[in-house]
Amino acid sequence: MDQDSSQRKLPPSQNRSVDADRLWQDLMALGTITDPGRPYTRRCFTHRFVEGRRWLANRFSEAGLAVRLDTGANMIGRMQGRDPSLPALLIGSHSDTVPSGGRFDGMLGVLAGLEVIRMLRDRGIVPRHPIEIVDFLGEEPSDYGLSCIGSRAMSGLLNDPMLDFKNASGETLAAAMARMGAEPSALAGARRSDIAAYLELHIEQGRVLESGGTNVGLVTGIVGIARIEIEFTGAADHAGTTPFHLRRDTLIAASEIVTAVRRIGESYAVRNEGYFIATTGCLDIEPNASNVVPARARLVVEGRAENGSWLSEFTDELDALSRSAAKAANVERSAFRLISLSEPAPCDARVHRHLVAAAAELELSTADMASGAGHDAAFMAQIAPAAMVFVPSRDGRSHCPEEWTAAEDCSNGAALLFEALLRIDADDAFLQCARPVTGARGVTS
Ligand SMILES: [Zn+2]
Repeated sequence: MDQDSSQRKLPPSQNRSVDADRLWQDLMALGTITDPGRPYTRRCFTHRFVEGRRWLANRFSEAGLAVRLDTGANMIGRMQGRDPSLPALLIGSHSDTVPSGGRFDGMLGVLAGLEVIRMLRDRGIVPRHPIEIVDFLGEEPSDYGLSCIGSRAMSGLLNDPMLDFKNASGETLAAAMARMGAEPSALAGARRSDIAAYLELHIEQGRVLESGGTNVGLVTGIVGIARIEIEFTGAADHAGTTPFHLRRDTLIAASEIVTAVRRIGESYAVRNEGYFIATTGCLDIEPNASNVVPARARLVVEGRAENGSWLSEFTDELDALSRSAAKAANVERSAFRLISLSEPAPCDARVHRHLVAAAAELELSTADMASGAGHDAAFMAQIAPAAMVFVPSRDGRSHCPEEWTAAEDCSNGAALLFEALLRIDADDAFLQCARPVTGARGVTS
């Protein structure tokens, strides 16, 4: 229905190039606000994080944004549109870091949003929709055992049991949020139903774009994750005196699982029906001694998929395989437990289409790709049409001081947000809050 508007050419007279230097200076300046001696660390709920936000709020104000905190302590800068009755277009990400993290993960999305606002101002463009730039509270895993705190609040998925989570010194998440300016007893106030579309620019945190020489990744969906614990119990017999046929060796069964996880993962990947990846990241054996047959083996396996039904299929396959591996090794399968399951969040097909058109206009090379990592966009996709853009990460590194994205890639991402925002703003399909349209992968491939 919006095919025509997504193809609409904008006036060629407008200079659409980003002030790459301005964006870069901001990224480097925010990076200087770090725990000394531990670059680059700005953990949520610390005074360093508040210091970073104060700097950011000043930048927002300088760009003419009205800055506020919602009751979930998300920091929001708002530019009024030509029609204040329209739902808002949001650009967001996060300014908190992991310990000894980088200068791009999260910050690029927020600062590129700010740069989009400055580009609009520089060109005298007032969009129809109000535009909001959001710094979500606590996207990275926090000391309270939860990530994406602010985007959960905005999407209505931050519940009371989560607010009671405690850190090592016994402070509740609710109390920590209140220190950041939230009103935990009035969280419903943070919940939004007035968002026309959500865009997030993020570093890829992988090697696909860099290795392919591709400018930008257009995210088709954010994976769901299933984590499964499997435990085998056997007998701790002497390694020198117990013949093979009498052993109850749990590591034999566990190693069957490790290789099966890889084999199943590869078989899903070749189906070419969406992203799937699987890993055995934990393996504990007891007694873990060179002269003793392993009596107990515990594995934690995870599968990540764009397609939710694959996660249950994967779980079922592991269930059957772990039973047969136990039988073959003459051990017990003493536990098989789904530890956690999160659903995939598909990106919106119409927003994705505007990103495709905008990238073509800017002559940026693109690749459709899934996000194998979680992001605030996964929560925003629950309440609004949402999509993400990735830019290359050098050597795929992230969550470390070496994390790096070239200035040109950062400005490509900001330019793409700007172009896509103008297209979405001009598309009558976004005049109301619409339900997300799934199936972004099918649109261009
Ligand atoms: Zn991030």
